[in-house]
Amino acid sequence: MYLVGHAAVGMAITSALGITNPVAAFGVGWVSHYFADFFPHGDEAVGEWTKRGNEVRRLLAVVVFDGALFLSVFTIFTAHRGFSFAMAAAALGSFVPDVLWGLEKLFKKKLFGFHERFHFANHNFFHIRLPFFVGILFQTAITFALWHSLIRR
Ligand SMILES: [Zn+2]
Repeated sequence: MYLVGHAAVGMAITSALGITNPVAAFGVGWVSHYFADFFPHGDEAVGEWTKRGNEVRRLLAVVVFDGALFLSVFTIFTAHRGFSFAMAAAALGSFVPDVLWGLEKLFKKKLFGFHERFHFANHNFFHIRLPFFVGILFQTAITFALWHSLIRR
């Protein structure tokens, strides 16, 4: 799942639980990542595309696009709701598992062995592969609905 989606899930859960402490929000965001990853989310085709070329460079392109998308919606969110340390921390926490994974890719080294085994095993737990089009549409719809509810609360 994309970071812009992970952030929305982490922020929505943090907000639903009424958590305002940034440290707690960071933890909730982090844990929410595994929860969101568990379900099929249909972006396998993008992962395969990154492996067909310079993987690190292609992953970076995805992260830049994804990160820009996140920053844009977070800016809209902040404009409507005001800046919240808890919400920012929830978003950052939700990125942690993929940042750890990204660091391993970047340095081509197993740095977080146990975490990576867990992260990978939990990811799309039932190995249901949605057609790319359906997966992206589904992920976009959920991401949009969550951000919309966060902004319009
Ligand atoms: Zn993940």
